Amino acid sequence: MGLRNCQRCGKLFSFFNYEVCRECLPEELADFDKVRSYLEKHPKATLFEIGRETGVKRSVLYRFYRSGRLSGK
Ligand SMILES: [Zn+2]
Repeated sequence: MGLRNCQRCGKLFSFFNYEVCRECLPEELADFDKVRSYLEKHPKATLFEIGRETGVKRSVLYRFYRSGRLSGK
């Protein structure tokens, strides 16, 4: 447990399992849901396609991917 910068708004917050603060968490989870359901239908989609189809920012996608939460490419 410690302080981290929120990956969405940059605010310092006390870390609690997510890389974003509590204010950004609903948006973070909504983005992740969109990406996950897109990947269920299109398991071979690239990050580029996922971003285009879901409207989730590329930087957010890379973050999901780097953290191992997505199995896409
Ligand atoms: Zn935030």
